[in-house]
Amino acid sequence: MAYDDQNVFAKILRGEIPCKKVYEDEFALAFHDINPMAPVHVLVIPKGPYVSFADFAREADAETVAGFFQAVNTTARELGLDPQGYRILANHGPTARQEVQHFHVHIFGGTDLGPMISRVGG
Ligand code: 5GP
Repeated sequence: MAYDDQNVFAKILRGEIPCKKVYEDEFALAFHDINPMAPVHVLVIPKGPYVSFADFAREADAETVAGFFQAVNTTARELGLDPQGYRILANHGPTARQEVQHFHVHIFGGTDLGPMISRVGG
């Protein structure tokens, strides 16, 4: 799938749509999810045009991949989630119901998060 630069996270990166920023560096921007599913629900996005996890893993260079995941770690630490724990999640493609076609990692925390996932399918 080609990258669509009109997706909502591309607009946030360009400053066309506001966000509640948590952390930013040369590799990533982290901001609160507009529809939080936990007391803390933050999204971390790379600055480059990657549609999904698979696109990012395939196309980004090693420094960009490492820098992005360091930014996820720094974001979780700065949110104060590190000692208690948190969950990271990335939806890739239709069966995962990826809504926004710009790669992002969700960080959930601030409470006991329950089981990893509710049982689905057969
Ligand atoms: P996905 O299903 O693609 O993994 O998750 C997309 C996430 O982006 C959802 O949790 C949704 O609430 C969030 N989201 C969608 N539009 C916006 C927006 O304009 N601003 C913010 N901060 N989050 C958004």
